Amino acid sequence: MQRLQDRVAVITGAGSGIGLATARRFAQEGAKVVAVDLDEVAGTKAADEVGGLFVKADVSQEDDVIRMFRTAHETYGSVDIAFNNAGISPPEDDSILTTGIDAWRRVQEVNLTSVYYCCKHAIPYMQRQGKGSIINTASFVAVMGSATSQISYTASKGGVLAMTRELGVQFAREGIRVNALCPGPVDTPLLQELFAKDPERAQRRLVHIPIGRFARAEEMAAAVAFLASDDASFITASEFLVDGGISSA
Ligand code: NAD
Repeated sequence: MQRLQDRVAVITGAGSGIGLATARRFAQEGAKVVAVDLDEVAGTKAADEVGGLFVKADVSQEDDVIRMFRTAHETYGSVDIAFNNAGISPPEDDSILTTGIDAWRRVQEVNLTSVYYCCKHAIPYMQRQGKGSIINTASFVAVMGSATSQISYTASKGGVLAMTRELGVQFAREGIRVNALCPGPVDTPLLQELFAKDPERAQRRLVHIPIGRFARAEEMAAAVAFLASDDASFITASEFLVDGGISSA
């Protein structure tokens, strides 16, 4: 019997990076994976690889989020795990002095409002089942300032963390655990895109990571699989830092 045997897991942003690594890990641990992504090609590839189901959805749109959980439930009969992970990097110049309101709003919609929709529409399924595990992807920047000026991104992730705590406390007695994954810098397309725009930024980040390297997406997936499983049965409303020590340095 594997740790996530037959659990139905909805993963957003499953086409790339942390979401893709987690889809692979969940499948290895026995879960039925519903891979959600805006990118049809990447999402289909991920779902095919893990023997799961692909649902194309834009998580910043409530109707899409409703549809993706409904599809998961209709196909597999439950919604046991929601890994609300899809997100975008900060706009190029994300200082509070220069970020425009449109860029700010877009980051909040994709990174924060999406998590609100995902929790809002996953929880009723979990309430009916009397159990469930939600993991929301925040970031290490949710617990510390960022030296690289990314106000809209940091604020969105702070919101994800606060929402996680609120929901973790509110639904604990109903058997629903809600935790936040707070990754440090992870070597994924999102980070590569950011560093391509500003190569010095990569060096500045690296010197602050006590472990001395960027994380691999698989290291995030291992933490998410733990949080999703019964091994984490007494962990809720937590910020789970997997950051190579950067937030304490
Ligand atoms: P990534 O760019 O490799 O993957 C993100 C995936 O999300 C992509 O497949 C993309 O198509 C999808 N996506 C984007 N917008 C979407 C939308 N509106 N609807 C549905 N899917 C959408 O990024 P990643 O590094 O794996 O990041 C995953 C999460 O981890 C994000 O929330 C990110 O903010 C967070 N995070 C990343 C790092 C890092 O260093 N990489 C650090 C801390 C937190």
